[in-house]
Amino acid sequence: MQKLLKDVFGFDSFRPIQKEAINRILKREDVLVVLPTGGGKSLIYQLPSLMMDGTTIVISPLIALMQDQVTSLRLNGINAQMLSSSQTNEQNSLVLNSLLNGELKFLYVAPERFNDFFIATLQRVKINFIVIDEAHCVSEWGHEFRDDYRRLKYLKEWFRGVNIAAFTATATKETENDILETLKIDKRALLRVPTKRDNLIIRCQKRVGDAKDQIVSFLNIHKDECGIIYCFTRKETEKLSEYLNSKGFNSASYHAGLTPDVRDEIFDDFKNERVKIIVATIAFGMGIDKSNIRFVLHTSLPKTIESYFQEIGRAGRDDLKSDTLLLYSKSDEISKRTLIDDLPETKYKENMYKKLESMYRFAVSSKCRHKMIAEYFGDEVETCESRCDNCIDEDRELIDITIESQKFLSAILRAGEKFGFTYIVDVLRGSNRKKILELGHNKLSVYGIGADLSKKQWGVVFDKLLDIEAIVQDEFKVLKITNIGKQILKKELSVTILKDDFEEKKSFEGYDS
Ligand code: ADP
Repeated sequence: MQKLLKDVFGFDSFRPIQKEAINRILKREDVLVVLPTGGGKSLIYQLPSLMMDGTTIVISPLIALMQDQVTSLRLNGINAQMLSSSQTNEQNSLVLNSLLNGELKFLYVAPERFNDFFIATLQRVKINFIVIDEAHCVSEWGHEFRDDYRRLKYLKEWFRGVNIAAFTATATKETENDILETLKIDKRALLRVPTKRDNLIIRCQKRVGDAKDQIVSFLNIHKDECGIIYCFTRKETEKLSEYLNSKGFNSASYHAGLTPDVRDEIFDDFKNERVKIIVATIAFGMGIDKSNIRFVLHTSLPKTIESYFQEIGRAGRDDLKSDTLLLYSKSDEISKRTLIDDLPETKYKENMYKKLESMYRFAVSSKCRHKMIAEYFGDEVETCESRCDNCIDEDRELIDITIESQKFLSAILRAGEKFGFTYIVDVLRGSNRKKILELGHNKLSVYGIGADLSKKQWGVVFDKLLDIEAIVQDEFKVLKITNIGKQILKKELSVTILKDDFEEKKSFEGYDS
């Protein structure tokens, strides 16, 4: 193993989880490896395959990913091929012939390829083991569920006695359990690296206006460094890149609407540092192996903490300190929510709403960001003390909002803990809406006592109370008060917030809608 590591891959030592996973694969055991981006997943299945005399089948969701892997293996003199819709029928037939002749070390395929014919063909082949890349796609609890992956639950029936090596960069405990159950793999197969990236600085800021000032001041501290800026739409990537270049930065935009040739060229320019900054949609990043990315900036809220963690994880693969900044606003949550509205009614859809909610809660929170991410994935870590805005910026100006919090909590209580945010704010601001008058809530002592704050400012109080768990929202968005909330009402606890967050600014979009 050691010799192959050095001779073929050029590394001196294994990372701890790599060695353990490889040993299990060689013993023909199943594994589910959860290893953050950049952790070295490919080596785990590629190295043991070189010690076996059959073919390793690698199931992967994206042609671009397969293409990268096949190319790099072939450059190493290893016979790897893929079956894909991007190749002609003749090319695919040649690949199948080589497979049946036992000439292939690796065969990369998409999950949709598993029809009766293909399964029957594979059953005639000597398989080393089966790799499932991006295994979270198997699970409706995961952040990228794919129907085609669901069929992989039959793998153990189709290929009796063949072990499975499944990989994912990010999975919550629920996702992990679901993957194991679906693939019929024993719980003991799980190998997991705690979700933590000590070399990343994590910051989140409310987006102000079109955010150009925030973006430029962030880039100014990263002069001449390589980084990625993630935008929500293709158009935004183009406009922002153009703007940055007009300000003397060296950037290019990248998205799925460009032709493969153009994308390859930009990719190559970035790799070789002819372009320093890539302004991209999330289409950029899969399989990029550039170790010195010094920063990742998001101009809006990602869909899930899983994708966010994967995207910031592209910075600092060389383990050197790297910087990340997330710019967000309430309106991001609303626009992402409408995208989920369009999905068919499934468990996955339900989970995606929850994941988006968690992402927004993360952004507005004042807790240690590293700790929040770790907890989301079910890991325990200490607060970082020095690597996130909430731990670093002790000198940020705080204001006391205990009174406002008490008003809000009191309104929830007096209206009988039966209503959501909008209704409570309407009561506080003395609205004449029909429902309030019908229920006689205009007679409550809290009616109209919050007219001095805008709905947006009440939104900030609300976010803070959720963040510190003074209130909880049930599945119908009805607000209930917790013990912490009761302590605030009794003046046993005070509540503070960043002054900047509370002052009326353009950044308070969203709560008006
Ligand atoms: P992942 O798929 O987990 O994101 P990769 O397999 O692409 O990660 O590996 C990430 C980087 O780490 C690659 O540049 C790879 O060459 C490097 N790498 C993997 N294993 C080792 C090792 N044992 N020692 C040093 N570098 C390694």
